[in-house]
Amino acid sequence: MADLHEWKLSEVIRAWEDDPGAPPTYRTPILRPQPDLQALPLALRIADLPPSQSGDQPGTVEFRYWAAADALRRAADFWGSLLGDDISWHPSVGDELTVTLDAGEDLNAYYDRAGLTFFHQSVSGITVYSGESPDVLCHETGHAVLDAIRPQLWDAASAEVAAFHESFADISALLSALQLDQMRVAVLAETNGHLARSSRLSRVAEQLGWAIRQISPTSVDRDCLRNAANHFFYRDPVMLPPDAPAAELSSAPHSFSRVFTGAFLRALAGIFRAQQNRDESGLKQASIDAGRLLEAGVAAAPIVPGYYAQVAAHMIAADHEMFGGGYGRALRSGFVRHGILSPSGATALTAAAVGEHALGIVGARTDRGEALERVLISGEAYGIAGEFSCRAPAQGLRFGVAGASPAIGSLAYGDAQRVAASFVEDLFRQGRVSVPEEHLTAEATMDAEAGIHTHQIIRADGGLTLARRAFD
Ligand SMILES: [Zn+2]
Repeated sequence: MADLHEWKLSEVIRAWEDDPGAPPTYRTPILRPQPDLQALPLALRIADLPPSQSGDQPGTVEFRYWAAADALRRAADFWGSLLGDDISWHPSVGDELTVTLDAGEDLNAYYDRAGLTFFHQSVSGITVYSGESPDVLCHETGHAVLDAIRPQLWDAASAEVAAFHESFADISALLSALQLDQMRVAVLAETNGHLARSSRLSRVAEQLGWAIRQISPTSVDRDCLRNAANHFFYRDPVMLPPDAPAAELSSAPHSFSRVFTGAFLRALAGIFRAQQNRDESGLKQASIDAGRLLEAGVAAAPIVPGYYAQVAAHMIAADHEMFGGGYGRALRSGFVRHGILSPSGATALTAAAVGEHALGIVGARTDRGEALERVLISGEAYGIAGEFSCRAPAQGLRFGVAGASPAIGSLAYGDAQRVAASFVEDLFRQGRVSVPEEHLTAEATMDAEAGIHTHQIIRADGGLTLARRAFD
C-alpha cells in the first residue's frame, strides 16, 4: 500500500479510481500524490490552465483537472514502464500528448494524432464529463500508446484491426486501474479472486455508459459502456452486420472489440491464478506480465485478415520467450473460449513451432516496419467521383493460425482486398467518412446526422485516398 505519510500535504490531490460510477453513485474520491504530467517517457500536457487549488471536491473544475491528470499519468506510466525510456508518441503528436478536457457537448472522446479530446453533456439533469472518467482517459491514452507501438494499424482498412485498437484501449483502462492498490484489493474482494467475473474492473466506463443508455438504451451494455466479462465468440467480421444492439456482435469496432477484450480478461484471470501469491501483489504482477505479453504480441503480429488470431499466436510465442511458457495455458484457454484461436490452432503453437520464430519476434520490438500496401476502391457506389486508395491488411504471415469456424476446426479468411472493401463499405453505411463536396456525385448518400467522422477522403500523391482522422 502507498504510504500517505510520504506525500507532502500540499501535493495531495483527490481523484477517482476507475470511474465516477453510474448515478446515483456513492463512490468517494481517493487521495493521490500530485502527478507530474511532463514525466518521461510519454509526457502529457493538459491544454486547460492548471487550477490554483490542488485538491477540492467532485463537481469542480479543479477536481476534474487533477482527477484527469492522475488517470492520464497512470496510463502513461504503466505503458512507459513496459516499453522503456526510448518509447515516444507518434511523431505527429510531438513530444507531449496534448489533452483537451472539455471541447463542448458530446458523449464521446477521441485520439486524433494531435492529442486527446474529451466532452461534456447533460443527461437527465446530470452533467457527464468524459474527461472525468479514468476508464475513458486511460482508454484514449491507450489509443495513443498503440499508435506509438504500431503506427500501421492506424490506416489499416480492416474491421478487425480497428476493433483491436478499441480492445487495446479498453485493456489499457483495465490494466491502468490495476496499478492502484485500492482497486486490486476491491476487485479481489468483489470477484473472490475470480477475475473473469463481472466486476468494477470489467465494467468499463460505467458513468458514460449510463449517460448513453438514457439516450439510446440498446447501444451500450446494461451496466456500463462495455463489459470485458462477456461471452462473445469470434465471427469473421466480414460476415457481420455493420451495426447491432449491444447484446449482439457487429463489425463496428467498439462492438467487435469485445471479443478480444473478453479473451484477454479470461487470460489475465489465468495469469493471476498462475502467480505464487494470489493476493494484491500477485495481481499487480499479473497485470504487468499480461501487459508485456500484449505489447510483445502486437509489436510482432503481421497485419493480415484474421488479425486477432495473429496477435494471440504472437502472445503465446512471446510467453515462451519471456516466461518459459508459464502462461501458455492461461492464454490458450482465453483465446479458445472466445474463438480467437481454433482449438487445433492453439495446440499447434508448440514450443518447437514458436521457437523457430523467436528472433523475428524479439526483433519486431524495435522495427516499426513499413506502411501497408495500397489497394484501389471504386468510389461510384459511395457517390464519389473516381476511385480512391486505402491500405489493405496484407503483410506476410508468420503463424498459419486462424479463429474458430462456427462449425468445427479453423476458419478460412477472405483475402486482404475483400477485408479492405468490406471495411470501407461499413464506413460508408455508417456515415463515418467525411468527403469534400468537390469529390461527391449527385447521388451521394452523405449523412449529415452521423457522429464523429473517423475517416476522410483526401487528395494525396496525385489521387484520392481514404485516411483515418481519429479513434473515438
Ligand atoms: Zn476508442
